[in-house]
Amino acid sequence: MPLYFDWTLVLLIPGVILSLWAQYKVKSAYAKYSQVGTRSGLNGAQVAARVLQDANVGLVGNAKAARGNVVSLEAIGGHLTDHYDPRDRTLRLSDEVYHGQSIAALGIAAHEVGHAIQHANAYSMLMWRNAIYPVTNIASSLSFPILFGGLIFGIGPLLYIGIALFAFAVVFTLITLPVEFDASRRALAALSSGGYLTEEEMYGARKVLSAAALTYVAAAVAALLQLLRLILIARGRN
Ligand SMILES: [Zn+2]
Repeated sequence: MPLYFDWTLVLLIPGVILSLWAQYKVKSAYAKYSQVGTRSGLNGAQVAARVLQDANVGLVGNAKAARGNVVSLEAIGGHLTDHYDPRDRTLRLSDEVYHGQSIAALGIAAHEVGHAIQHANAYSMLMWRNAIYPVTNIASSLSFPILFGGLIFGIGPLLYIGIALFAFAVVFTLITLPVEFDASRRALAALSSGGYLTEEEMYGARKVLSAAALTYVAAAVAALLQLLRLILIARGRN
């Protein structure tokens, strides 16, 4: 979101380039490895269920019954819409991943299961991330109106309040990194040790998951650069 046009805008360029690069990597890795089947012949939903079982996490068919150490699993529409929702402990896999039997489908399914296992094991970084999520939402929606107010009316303290609020969003993108890396690490370990992918197939799963991780790195870099830019603008004003 450009605040207004000045030289500090150039600071955002590396973040934009990195984001585009990451999106390209995800698209191309997914396009390639969603066409490659696996020897196990399992689909994403089956692998998700097995990896959960291997980790002693229960699985129920209904989101309402999910609690504690028990999660639910369902298919959702859309492309690459896969996620784990900690609020109702539900794994939602896109149709292509849920029913898919490709290396990409299994890698993505196992990654989302990784988040469910993090939650069941109360993995600290995920718990922190879930805890600051509501605060981050409020803080980041307030930050830009307050920053604009500070700039338009020339009120320095408002600028710094806006920056402090934006900093919550930056912390959130940073805390997301270990959560995402850990979910992929768990996924790859589970796929390998469970024998769901062969050593050769693991290569493709690694490619897909590291491309996905790069999108989170890009988001964190973009947020940090935006923060730096806002600080420079505020200092230039005072
Ligand atoms: Zn993830």
